[in-house]
Amino acid sequence: MPNTLMAIYAHPDDEILGSGGTLASYAAMGSRVVLVCATRGEVGEISDPTLATPETLGEVREQELRCAAETLGIHDVYFLDYRDSGMEGTPENEDARAFVQADMVEITAKLVGLIRSERPQVVVTFEPYGGYGHPDHKMAHKAAVAAFDAASDPQQFPEQGEVWHPQRLFYSAIPTSFWLEMRDHMAAAGMDTSRFDSIQTNPERFPDEKITTEVEVSRFVDAKFAAALCHATQFGAESIFRRVPESVFKQISSHEHFAQARPDPQAVAAPAHDLFQELPV
Ligand SMILES: [Zn+2]
Repeated sequence: MPNTLMAIYAHPDDEILGSGGTLASYAAMGSRVVLVCATRGEVGEISDPTLATPETLGEVREQELRCAAETLGIHDVYFLDYRDSGMEGTPENEDARAFVQADMVEITAKLVGLIRSERPQVVVTFEPYGGYGHPDHKMAHKAAVAAFDAASDPQQFPEQGEVWHPQRLFYSAIPTSFWLEMRDHMAAAGMDTSRFDSIQTNPERFPDEKITTEVEVSRFVDAKFAAALCHATQFGAESIFRRVPESVFKQISSHEHFAQARPDPQAVAAPAHDLFQELPV
């Protein structure tokens, strides 16, 4: 049985920036890598109107995610079939199908079922703020943590299969230094950098000090960039990630960062560089 890594995110493309290289790297080393995506990103951007309409965007983004998964070597993609809730404060938040409107017990049950059938040793999800506070990212974080804890509890969700105890839960975290580097490159290119103005003072941002583990993914930055391009509706020519030189994107993307959440890193030291370090196979 190979090691299994499960990543739990909210939208197609969430897998790329913080963990694309890591997912590709473990897949290349022979681990089984599976991705759970809560929605199909139905209310995301459409970078080019020839690619999708608001009506077809979910379908298009499902295919974009399948392209990215293949590029990264991800073995399986599971959708939880909720609807993208949109940015905070938009009318899509109120849609009855929106992920943020879903019952947490129902979401947790679905994730427990997947954890118990896939039996991952390591689970990766968003940190609590989800990078930039998207309501679906925060929801995916909460549900993933609840499911990680419930999967090993025989009292919870007995209908979701045989109990499984995943060993480690990590939060994918993009350190402030990454955004500051992006900002500097954008400023040098004459681009607007005002979106970064509050990055160091935003109290909700995940603190860099909590990062426990840095995975070196230089060998996989080409795959990561190619996977990003699969998400054509999101990473169009105007995307900030396309407007900095490709070499810059690859250079600042060559390390990915994680914070061990289970077990508590205060009690059990987190691995410095390898999410699976010293886990029994
Ligand atoms: Zn997202």
